[in-house]
Amino acid sequence: MPDPNSPSDFEPSVIPIEPSNLQTFKPVLPIPEHLVGEIQSKLAYVDEAIARAIVPASGDQISLVLHEPVDAARQAELEVKVQRVVASMVKGSIKPKVQVLEDYLDRRVAYKLDPMDELLARGEISQETTGVFSLGPLVTGLIGYFEGRFLELAASFGAVAYRFPTLIPARYLERVGYFRAFPHSLSFVTHLREDLDVIDDFSQHAACDDHGALVGQVSYLPSVSETSFANIQTLLSPAVCYHLYFTLADKPLPGGKVVATAVGNCFRYEAINLVSLERLWNFTMREIIFVGPKDFVLENREIARQRMAKVLEEIGMAYRVESANDPFFIGEFRKQVAFQSAFQLKFEIRARLPFKDSTLAVGSYNYHQDFFGRNLAISLSDGSPAHTGCVAFGLERIAFAFLAQFGLEPENWPTAVRTAIYPV
Ligand code: ATP
Ligand code: ZN
Repeated sequence: MPDPNSPSDFEPSVIPIEPSNLQTFKPVLPIPEHLVGEIQSKLAYVDEAIARAIVPASGDQISLVLHEPVDAARQAELEVKVQRVVASMVKGSIKPKVQVLEDYLDRRVAYKLDPMDELLARGEISQETTGVFSLGPLVTGLIGYFEGRFLELAASFGAVAYRFPTLIPARYLERVGYFRAFPHSLSFVTHLREDLDVIDDFSQHAACDDHGALVGQVSYLPSVSETSFANIQTLLSPAVCYHLYFTLADKPLPGGKVVATAVGNCFRYEAINLVSLERLWNFTMREIIFVGPKDFVLENREIARQRMAKVLEEIGMAYRVESANDPFFIGEFRKQVAFQSAFQLKFEIRARLPFKDSTLAVGSYNYHQDFFGRNLAISLSDGSPAHTGCVAFGLERIAFAFLAQFGLEPENWPTAVRTAIYPV
């Protein structure tokens, strides 16, 4: 969840503001401060005309920066859509009580700059497209270090290792209500239909337009259009732990308890919010997953948090652990957030980003109650549904936050990190 104090979590790419492409109006309901960041992030999905949405902390105004000027009718249409989001998210919303479990935000860290510019300038990262980056040796070395620490944490629970696919069947996501909760961030996978004419035409005519979109005039189709593509049965996976729950579905849980770990590519399309390494379309998550009775899951989530606190202390990272919610889409938002908050289902590790005086979620401690156990029929020995929980780390994000706090020169890094990556 965006830090309520830092809507800048969602600073989108900079489009120059001209009077002709700026539309400003008052929200139908005043936006309370705790929803400013959440609403600003959701405005990214309202209309393709919107390049950037600005909601000041006061919540009494909304400004839309548009890709290009539009006429009055279109402006009215945009305003109606935006007001729908505001009404749906503000009406009846209760400010969730933020519970802080650890607060080391004021740990002294040496670096103050945005590492992005320097990483790009040195060729240590390169952007392939929006939200998609290749990582060079510096960031890869850091991720390797953090992975080592996460694997130690996993081993301390005797977690068994899994490897999961990057693709996930639509049917799986349907079974756990993902389409209702997170429709905005889905990434679909398809392929050409098994039809020789379609494949031949594609091979001869497909090309990318100026925006990198696949187009092509083909002899009997107007373009490389949806008619060329097969029905979508598969998506890019948005999380790691779901795959484990599906391997355990529709049967008794072996041994009554499972602790597993896996790392995998995850995909969440975050539209104009996709900026820098902070918010990627394609990112990597390491998870440690607990499945079993309620107490087993909750106790292990808590032990994991305490063990991780020692690791973060050793590294010297400035961070805070606080209650949070998942980025549910507009219609589901109010209900789900109240539920997550009431039952303390999610806590995030929010690392400090000194260059923008803000924080970034680098990991989360999650408890799903018996949601997956019920929906996927994972049963305990007494026939009741299993409970699940996961500890999830965003690998690119933790490396980015580390660089934001300690800079790009290994000689300025904490000794434990430097010597682990560059032994002398
Ligand atoms: P769930 O409870 O639904 O299983 P999860 O625990 O698997 O969720 P999240 O808490 O949503 O996953 O994400 C875990 C971590 O992944 C975040 O703390 C963050 O570090 C990273 N992450 C999430 N979204 C992005 C993104 N768009 N870009 C980069 N990292 C991300
Ligand atoms: Zn998870």
